[in-house]
Amino acid sequence: MQSLLELEDVTYVYHSINGETYALSNISFQVEDGEFIAIVGPSGCGKSTLLSLISGLLTPESGTILLHGRDIKDSKTDIGYMLQKDHLFEWRTIYSNLKLGLEIQKKDTPENRKHIDELLKSYGLSKFKNAKPSQLSGGMRQRAALIRTLALNPGLLLLDEPFSALDYQTRLSVCDDIASIIKKEHKTAILVTHDLSEAISVADRVIVLTKRPGRIRKIVPIQIDMEERTPMKSRNAPEFKDYFNLIWKELNNDD
Ligand code: ADP
Ligand code: MG
Repeated sequence: MQSLLELEDVTYVYHSINGETYALSNISFQVEDGEFIAIVGPSGCGKSTLLSLISGLLTPESGTILLHGRDIKDSKTDIGYMLQKDHLFEWRTIYSNLKLGLEIQKKDTPENRKHIDELLKSYGLSKFKNAKPSQLSGGMRQRAALIRTLALNPGLLLLDEPFSALDYQTRLSVCDDIASIIKKEHKTAILVTHDLSEAISVADRVIVLTKRPGRIRKIVPIQIDMEERTPMKSRNAPEFKDYFNLIWKELNNDD
């Protein structure tokens, strides 16, 4: 069966007047439909570069990236991107922020608006429809940013350290919240994080990168046996600590 996303021997080099920076080297992996993948690695190892390549914003120096079997440049599948900053515009209400993607992509149809209304209702933001972003907590803003991304019905979600601006407590609950919404909506997601616990708590598989130029050190399937696994519950599972130690060792392995 064809994977949703396939990377084969992907390499990326930044060329600038100061020389060349080898950011990624020989990256190969597949992502299956409905999977939640986390990518961890030291700061500057090429994690954000990897997401930019998958989104088609950057083109690999060599290697291929296929989405539904087609080169990402020719793929018709929408990709949703979520970043550390929520990029909600203060002069727009929450609702008109959520509609923004639809407006830009000329998809502001009654059907798609209904989808936004349903998402707002399902995820407890209906009563903030006409509020301005500053009236929402950090966690609610991230939830609104996720709904804005989901409004476009993306086939693949890319999350680049979306929780790293939040304080620790908020971060735990927002991560739980966002990951649960992504599961409920049956989305495929790739989360980049430097937080090992966060990666293990949300992911079906964790991809560990080496320091720059980022190569794949190891791919670790996470199997936590429990009914209705959530990130928060996973953190308390007996297996969690073993995965933490295993991936910690890989991250600090310098050969
Ligand atoms: P990460 O997200 O893992 O912290 P990045 O993907 O942002 O890492 O960056 C990987 C490496 O590429 C870093 O050493 C960074 O300094 C370098 N880099 C990132 N963007 C550029 C750019 N536009 N020009 C030159 N070098 C860059
Ligand atoms: Mg980054």
